[in-house]
Amino acid sequence: MNRKLDFGPSGIPLAAEGKGLVKGIQTIKELGLEAMELAFVQSVYIKDENKAREVNEARKKAGIRLSVHAPYYINLNAAKKETMDASIERLYLACKMGGLCGAESVAVHAAFRHADESKKIKEKIVNACNQIYEKLDAQQIKIKIAPEFAGKLSQWGSLEEVMNIAHETRGGWCMDFGHAHATSNGSLTTREKFDHILEKIEKFDQNYLKDLHIQCCGITFTEKGERYHTSFDSNESTLNWKAMTESFKAFNVGGICITECPGQEKDALLLKNYYESL
Ligand SMILES: [Zn+2]
Repeated sequence: MNRKLDFGPSGIPLAAEGKGLVKGIQTIKELGLEAMELAFVQSVYIKDENKAREVNEARKKAGIRLSVHAPYYINLNAAKKETMDASIERLYLACKMGGLCGAESVAVHAAFRHADESKKIKEKIVNACNQIYEKLDAQQIKIKIAPEFAGKLSQWGSLEEVMNIAHETRGGWCMDFGHAHATSNGSLTTREKFDHILEKIEKFDQNYLKDLHIQCCGITFTEKGERYHTSFDSNESTLNWKAMTESFKAFNVGGICITECPGQEKDALLLKNYYESL
């Protein structure tokens, strides 16, 4: 059976810029896209629960899937208790408001490594996720926290690390191919490289390819990792987006594919149209 992969941009499409989330969601549908990320990267800008429920109504009506990107200012491996508490609170708020909007998965740059062991960081993240899930459960909010494959070497989040967290919590994690390209010195230039990643994921847990939370973009990088996002067809980026899309098709990947490119819907449509032409 062919699984469904839903494409869409991060944030309100440029065609609906400044017109709010409800109009943004309607525009996603008009454009022929199927998904959108609520970009809470600077802050969780929806404060009102009723407003969030309105967004969910618009989402249901348009039949689109939503994901969330949590605020950047989160570090679940902070040494200071107040930083830790503030990080957990920010992530909780992103989950709560995202969940009320009907989003399914919250991508998060979960932690910095500092000089700590991977195992210790994992324990702190799992513990933080469990605290958040407890509060969400009490409100029947079913969203998943999805630690991202990290884009900088100072950040926690290798492929194995994020998939392991998923096994120990509610199953959420996010595969970011822009980050994978940036942290591997620009290795994602051929079909084989993408196939290799998808094989690893399938081998770890065959269910993961059925409903994968994907983020991707053209990207520039240094030896430390990501520098900035670009459009897929920019001369600055060497990520082979056609090979990536072919690989999604070949592995029958289902789920949600968010393009985090400055071209917004242009890049999401580029990927979707190419995917459908295969
Ligand atoms: Zn991210």
